[in-house]
Amino acid sequence: MKIDIKGIWGALSSLKYLFQPPGTLRYPDVKKEAADGYRGFHDNDLSKCIGCGMCEDICMNLAIDMVKPKSEAYLNAKNGSGLIPRLDYGRCCWCSLCTDVCPVNSLKLTKNYVYVSEDMNRFIYTPGEEKLGKREKETVK
Ligand code: SF4
Ligand code: SF4
Repeated sequence: MKIDIKGIWGALSSLKYLFQPPGTLRYPDVKKEAADGYRGFHDNDLSKCIGCGMCEDICMNLAIDMVKPKSEAYLNAKNGSGLIPRLDYGRCCWCSLCTDVCPVNSLKLTKNYVYVSEDMNRFIYTPGEEKLGKREKETVK
C-alpha cells in the first residue's frame, strides 16, 4: 500500500487555522469600519446650508430635490431660498459631485453605508428628519 504523504501533510497543515483569528466578522455584533474617503450616506450640516440648490443642479441622476423643511427652525439665517436638499438613494450613484460643488461644505459623504428596509420609499434622506425617512410629496418644491 502506498502512503499519500502529500495528501496527509495537506490535511494536517490545515490544522494551523484552528489557532488563527477568524478572517470574518461576527456581523451585526461587529461592524467593519469604512476606509477614509469612503462614499457612504450623505450628511448635511443645516447650520451651514444656504439653500443655493447647486447640489440639485449638478446631480446627473436627479437624486436631489430642494424641499421645504418640516420646520423653519432647520433653516439658518443665510438660507435665502428657504429650501434644503432631499436625497433619494434609489437614484444616487455616490459620485460625490454634489458635495464637491457645495460652496459652504455643508453637504458631505459619511462612512455610514448600512441601512435595511423592506420599504423602498424609506431610502430618502431629508436633513433634520430621521436619517433615512419616507418621501413626503407635499414637501416637494
Ligand atoms: S452623490 Fe452624485 S448621484 Fe448622489 S446625490 Fe450627489 S451628485 Fe447625485
Ligand atoms: S447642501 Fe450645499 S449645495 Fe446644496 S443647497 Fe445646501 S449649500 Fe447649496
